[in-house]
Amino acid sequence: MMKKRIAILGSTGSIGTQTIDVLDAVGAEVAALTGNRNVKRMEEQVRKLRPKLAVLSDEAAAKELRIALADTSVEVCAGEEGLRRAATMESAELVVTAVVGMVGLVPTLEAIAAGKDIALANKETLVCAGELVMQAAQEKGVKILPVDSEHSAVFQCAQARGENPLAKIILTASGGPFFGKTRAELASVTLEQALRHPNWSMGAKITIDSATMFNKGLELIEAMWLYGLPPEAIDIVIHRESIVHSLIEFADGAVLAQLGLPDMRLPIQYALTYPERVPCKVPHLSLAEIGKLTFFTPDEEAFPALRIARNAAGERGNACAILNGANEAAVDLFLHDKIGFLEIPELVERALADVPRCGGLTLAQVLEADAMARETVYSAR
Ligand code: NAD
Ligand code: MG
Repeated sequence: MMKKRIAILGSTGSIGTQTIDVLDAVGAEVAALTGNRNVKRMEEQVRKLRPKLAVLSDEAAAKELRIALADTSVEVCAGEEGLRRAATMESAELVVTAVVGMVGLVPTLEAIAAGKDIALANKETLVCAGELVMQAAQEKGVKILPVDSEHSAVFQCAQARGENPLAKIILTASGGPFFGKTRAELASVTLEQALRHPNWSMGAKITIDSATMFNKGLELIEAMWLYGLPPEAIDIVIHRESIVHSLIEFADGAVLAQLGLPDMRLPIQYALTYPERVPCKVPHLSLAEIGKLTFFTPDEEAFPALRIARNAAGERGNACAILNGANEAAVDLFLHDKIGFLEIPELVERALADVPRCGGLTLAQVLEADAMARETVYSAR
């Protein structure tokens, strides 16, 4: 296989570090790395991978990194401009988008405009501006390769579809740390409990999203854009073991699934080697050892996030950008112990009720909806 040249946006995070962990298997070379303020980890990554460009969004941290790397020829940049440069590096053909949140949107659009294929982990990008991103990718003829495990599962299964359309997508959800709890019980759960995910070790924001089930709501919207299906054709099923990563259904009722241990390195690697497959570090699955797989209907009374996301998805326009911005702000408040767990969906619903809708959707309208949604949430506190 030819050595792939890639840029990793968000290389210091959970997906970023796991991407670096599969680089040897993939045979990829790194042109640029970006992080937020973790100087030490970025310095280690730069010394190991020798990219041309290293970016830290935080100005002070970037200054520190520049001093730490003074003995190298690696260029160090800061801020949004740095992120954009990393996304459009001439020497990269593929960009892994592993930053968290809608800050990933503009760099992703710029990477697409520059003709880069995208290995997409940053789901918030598709949630707030799926239409713009998919349209831009189509116009430019670049691939959007899903990294999210459920969407990778759908993508992998879909390789077997030939000319047949998908009748349905079935996304699996672990149910998170609070599966089985009633609404009354959820009123008193703590931040510490919410951060303890049973099956996956991930960044803080997505871990809270998994606890509220907004993660699955965001993934429903992500799947809608990636596969061009209406929200009604996307089902959610709780699957506690996180072994079946998702399924597709055809017109005749046949269902295909992709299975494996819960480890992001496989979907990350497949996005980087597609359409080829190469050996992966992840231990192989032993079904007999797993023993049994269980499935349940989600409890939308205790976890209203699914219903809220499904409604926003059906609306199109700027509703999903409002939902995403409000959720990012509410999760931020929860992570800083400013609100209780049940207030997260309440604040998202309030933003959806208060922020005005618009019909079409430009980038400026997405950014405006996002800003207004955040403002609604922060000012409610
Ligand atoms: P994380 O918090 O571990 O890492 C986030 C990365 O983004 C870090 O490199 C951080 O430095 C950078 N970052 C944070 N704020 C930034 C800002 N304002 N400007 C620029 N860079 C910033 O998050 P993660 O768990 O790796 O998740 C990354 C994305 O991948 C998210 O969109 C998440 O939903 C998605 N995802 C993650 C997993 C997982 O297993 N971790 C699985 C599926 C999808
Ligand atoms: Mg997922």
